[in-house]
Amino acid sequence: MKDFIAILRRFVPPYKKYLALNIFFNILTALLTLFSFALVVPILEMLFRINEATYSMMHIGEASFKDVVVNNFYYYVQEAMNQWGAVTTLALLAFALVIMTALKTGSAFLSSYFIIPMRSGVVRDIRNYVYNKITALPIGFFTVERKGDIMARMSGDVAEIENSIMASLDMIFKNPVMIIACLGMMIAISWQMTVFVFILLPIVGVVMGRVGKRLKRTSFEGQTQWGVLMSTIEETLGGLRIIKAFNAEDKVRTRFHAENQEFYRLSNIVARRQALAHPMSEFLGTIAVAIILWFGGSLILSGHSNMNAAAFIYYMVIFYNVIPPAKDLSKAMYQIQKGLASMQRVDVILNAVNPIADPANARRLPEATAASISLENVSFSYDGEVEVLKDINLDIPAGSTVALVGQSGSGKSTLADLIPRFYDPTKGCVAVDGIDVRDLRVADLRSIMGNVNQEAILFNDTIFNNIAFGVEHATLDQVRAAARIANADDFIMATENGYDTPIGDRGCRLSGGQRQRISIARAVLKNPSVLILDEATSALDSESETLVQQALDRLMKGRTTLVIAHRLSTIRRADMICVLNQGRIVERGTHEQLIAPEAKGFYRRLVEMQQLNA
Ligand code: ADP
Ligand code: MG
Repeated sequence: MKDFIAILRRFVPPYKKYLALNIFFNILTALLTLFSFALVVPILEMLFRINEATYSMMHIGEASFKDVVVNNFYYYVQEAMNQWGAVTTLALLAFALVIMTALKTGSAFLSSYFIIPMRSGVVRDIRNYVYNKITALPIGFFTVERKGDIMARMSGDVAEIENSIMASLDMIFKNPVMIIACLGMMIAISWQMTVFVFILLPIVGVVMGRVGKRLKRTSFEGQTQWGVLMSTIEETLGGLRIIKAFNAEDKVRTRFHAENQEFYRLSNIVARRQALAHPMSEFLGTIAVAIILWFGGSLILSGHSNMNAAAFIYYMVIFYNVIPPAKDLSKAMYQIQKGLASMQRVDVILNAVNPIADPANARRLPEATAASISLENVSFSYDGEVEVLKDINLDIPAGSTVALVGQSGSGKSTLADLIPRFYDPTKGCVAVDGIDVRDLRVADLRSIMGNVNQEAILFNDTIFNNIAFGVEHATLDQVRAAARIANADDFIMATENGYDTPIGDRGCRLSGGQRQRISIARAVLKNPSVLILDEATSALDSESETLVQQALDRLMKGRTTLVIAHRLSTIRRADMICVLNQGRIVERGTHEQLIAPEAKGFYRRLVEMQQLNA
């Protein structure tokens, strides 16, 4: 319960207004319920002529407020009967009952009407919080297994919160009001009977709960069997070729039919139990009512209670009325438990600490056209055990190009990721213009960086918006100029709607080279002083490679560039080449130095191999 209140405290404040309206209408509904049923009492009394007393007008203060109101009500009914006759008065009372009921149901609707925006709003807020958190957390947080888990939490758990906690909100604020109002009235009419009801009800509740539990168990077995069926179908579809090749159709059919038969058996049990639930609860409910009828009747007959028959029936009506909210309330209590478990799972994301945070007193980068990069004694490990980078020292002077080569898995991409602070080094320091990147605001640092990766990452939007992604208020002229530098303008203009052409999910309507040139145009438009090219041309065929390479050469002009590549054409013009092997820089120098006959290193072998292939 404490956790539940904590959740309300966290998420409900923006919806206080709705909550207040909801509670107001809940109270109104409860009062109207009591009074609309109260109208039944004089109707019954008149029909059966139980009440033969004569009433005279009373004034407030003559008796208790309640007695005055009841007395005057009877007085007016009596006057009406004298004036218009019993039948007309009865019709009037019946009409009043209709009006009261209309007001009551209207007010019940309004109470739901006002709680609904709160219910959907809280869930919307939670989804936004999670999304904000996802975009704020560093890349390192999202390992492959975590991605699926986060999706599950964002869809499944948030839906669970909506279905359990938020759906229960209505009940939590409505039912207690109704229950308290009804119970108050029941005690006012006959406390003896109410005490009796309190003893009887838990017994009925326990019996009904037993039935529900058995139902749940079989329905769980049914779901498991459904899972078995689904996986058989999936397996069959995947292995169809083998099934046919081995003439095993009959074999798999027999297996499937047996499993399906088991599901049929369980479905029957579940459906029959379900069909039993309603008659059962009706039967038990009626037993309870019969016992109460007997008890109340004997109270009246023995003269132990001053209830008359009409009040007794009114009591029963209210009693009937209090059962559904009481049932709902106990259901809500159970559902909230389920929702709290989901909330905990969502909170794991919301409360995750972000290690890549802005420093308290950030330093500013000087406004320079090109920035220098330096890595000093940098080591890095993803898991705290295996060192992926070991003691790296590397200087990239402003405006120069450094190429990284090395086998796949040697740590090239990891090294590149340290510069824009996608990760922080485990040891050592990465500096831009001599300032440790951890002393800069993350946004400032990344604003001077441009990335082009092997896999061009594009979004499901127009070409224009993809190029202008990192730049606000870019004009079409600027975007076109960038596209021209990136060799992309021609093919973009050839598409159906030019720059307004949507590129489809992840750019699936474009070829690899076109996607890459768009991502280069995006980097050109951002005009970064530091460029990081991670195998930007590796995934391309040689024709688009030429176009992309031209674009890259123009992009690199005058910028500090770290280029990761394995094609010689890209690397050989670099100011310095570093060979990375198992996380260490094992060779460094210019192309000429590294291929010199006396150098028998890794780079020379790489060059010889590529020349062999060419
Ligand atoms: P390269 O780009 O040179 O091919 P990477 O920098 O991608 O190499 O990877 C270097 C090493 O770090 C590899 O052994 C790889 O398995 C490991 N690695 C890469 N990314 C991760 C990650 N997110 N979590 C754990 N290990 C990783
Ligand atoms: Mg890589």
